[in-house]
Amino acid sequence: MTRIILVGGGIGGAATALALSRQGFEPVVYERTKALREVGAGVALWANATHIMKNLGLLEDAINVGCPITNYQFCSQHGKELVNVSVDGFELPVVGIHRAELHRLLWQNVPTEKFILGETFERFECQGDRIHAYFTSGAQAEGDALIGADGLRSRVRAALFGDVPPTYRNFKTWRGLTEFIPKSYRPGYIHEYLGGGKGGGFMMLGQGKMYWYVAATAPANQPDAATKRKQALENLFRDWFSSIPELITATDESQIITTDLYDRPPTRPWSLGNVTLLGDAAHPMLPTMGQGACTALEDAYVIAKCLKANPDPVAAFQQYESLRFPRTKAIVEQSLRSGKMGELKHPLAVGLRNTFMKVMGAAISSSFQSLHAYRA
Ligand SMILES: Cc1cc2nc3c(=O)[nH]c(=O)nc-3n(C[C@H](O)[C@H](O)[C@H](O)COP(=O)(O)OP(=O)(O)OC[C@H]3O[C@@H](n4cnc5c(N)ncnc54)[C@H](O)[C@@H]3O)c2cc1C
Repeated sequence: MTRIILVGGGIGGAATALALSRQGFEPVVYERTKALREVGAGVALWANATHIMKNLGLLEDAINVGCPITNYQFCSQHGKELVNVSVDGFELPVVGIHRAELHRLLWQNVPTEKFILGETFERFECQGDRIHAYFTSGAQAEGDALIGADGLRSRVRAALFGDVPPTYRNFKTWRGLTEFIPKSYRPGYIHEYLGGGKGGGFMMLGQGKMYWYVAATAPANQPDAATKRKQALENLFRDWFSSIPELITATDESQIITTDLYDRPPTRPWSLGNVTLLGDAAHPMLPTMGQGACTALEDAYVIAKCLKANPDPVAAFQQYESLRFPRTKAIVEQSLRSGKMGELKHPLAVGLRNTFMKVMGAAISSSFQSLHAYRA
């Protein structure tokens, strides 16, 4: 049986382990953290991703722990609607879900002995058509192929193509979870607000959890406020549509996480022989289109199909890369363009952008539709 070493057990690695074991392969995931866990935040599984959940046999479970989404509404920072995109016109639902729930659904369907925790990948060597992976603990693994699903600062990527840092895209983000539901919340809606160099939004996840996110332009590597982080955030969004500051205030400070935003300009190759990359390791993108985790799910499903169709992992990885590169490149670029629109600060530029969004409502809707219509 083909033994595949997977480095990284995040959403991409866990989905790949599941997709591979469903196809009869023997994946083994090496994850550096000692416990499988995801950050306390939400994710929208658009129709392109619920298609994968369905094929992995997990759609019903996702619906049960998540919340259906019907509309993606964009507003000005003061709450005036700019565009209202209907996202539920497909044969598959759109589901808002806690990341930890999504992660749990994926890995609980893979035998636990396939996850080796607390192992940090360091390097690999090819010996004929075998791959040997080495970990900082001194542990070693041998397999027929290796997939790097080790995220934005992938060690596997560095070992393949050199250690090139990702590109900082001038935004710092904060994400939070609370049980507080703003009065303005419309069931099924993702509400998003766009201001000058700042933005934010909220959506319901399952089990009564409201997920919110905000972003603001900032230089790279700004230390987070050592104390009173929440208060600093409240000040930053004080004059915004009331739901945003209300959600920040209602959230326990320990439930707010902050992340700087990076991506990488899309480049090929991702693969060398029987080693390849997947998810953020291959194509990290800004979260503006909400597709990072969704495309990692697509990758997982496609790589398992390619390995099934090609007994030789080298040919399978070439096919996988040819199928996945054009789509992910387009989304990385689209996400960056949206990020640039969010960077505009001058009131005149912000006003023009908002007018543009209103006028272009139909085109914006259709661009989301073609993104979500894709079936891997
Ligand atoms: C603010 C923000 C909001 C987002 N919102 C959305 C959204 O709404 N929708 C969406 O689809 N996506 C969203 N994303 C993107 C999404 O989070 C990522 O694209 C997705 O998590 C990528 O999954 P991954 O498994 O490829 O990488 P990761 O989740 O980064 O997982 C990588 C795993 O590899 C492990 N690892 C790393 N190095 C090693 C090593 N050397 N050895 C062993 N293990 C290692 C890590 O511990 C980790 O578990 C968002 C991202 C951000 C920052």
